[in-house]
Amino acid sequence: MKYMKDQMIVEFDSASKNESFARIVVAAFATRLDPTLEEIADIKTAVSEAVTNSIIHGYENGDGKIRIETVIVEDTITIIVQDFGVGIENVKKAMEPLYTTKPDLERSGMGFAFMEAFMDELFVESEIGIGTKITMRKVINQGENHKSQIK
Ligand code: ATP
Ligand code: MG
Repeated sequence: MKYMKDQMIVEFDSASKNESFARIVVAAFATRLDPTLEEIADIKTAVSEAVTNSIIHGYENGDGKIRIETVIVEDTITIIVQDFGVGIENVKKAMEPLYTTKPDLERSGMGFAFMEAFMDELFVESEIGIGTKITMRKVINQGENHKSQIK
């Protein structure tokens, strides 16, 4: 059986200008799975939400590093977004749609809901004062007719 594994690790400063860098670099890596435009858009949205959370909540717009690890195994892409910031006190509550600790900043509390909707799996691990690690997984090219569609 053909077995393929690919890994990419990138670390950058917590700054809003790096949000578009993060989603583009992950999307570029994902192209080797020959995703549809919709799948690429889903991945970009999920990465944006996770990275924005690290910048705004994890580091509260201060200094810090954000690490992204992306692994492709066969037709599945796993994306891990990690910060070493304040951490989340109650992960279950934080993941509820519309829950936000920053309503004053025009946050809608939908970041985790989007990550969940656009990816196939979402795991959140967090510890106060240690940081937050988001693991997202998506299977690409599930549609059997995908190849013939794009030709
Ligand atoms: P939106 O994403 O819609 O702008 P939001 O960021 O508040 O609003 P979520 O992304 O769903 O909503 O996150 C919910 C809450 O979880 C946040 O308000 C914040 O309290 C907490 N949170 C999320 N990510 C982190 C993180 N990396 N570090 C610390 N807290 C976080
Ligand atoms: Mg958010």
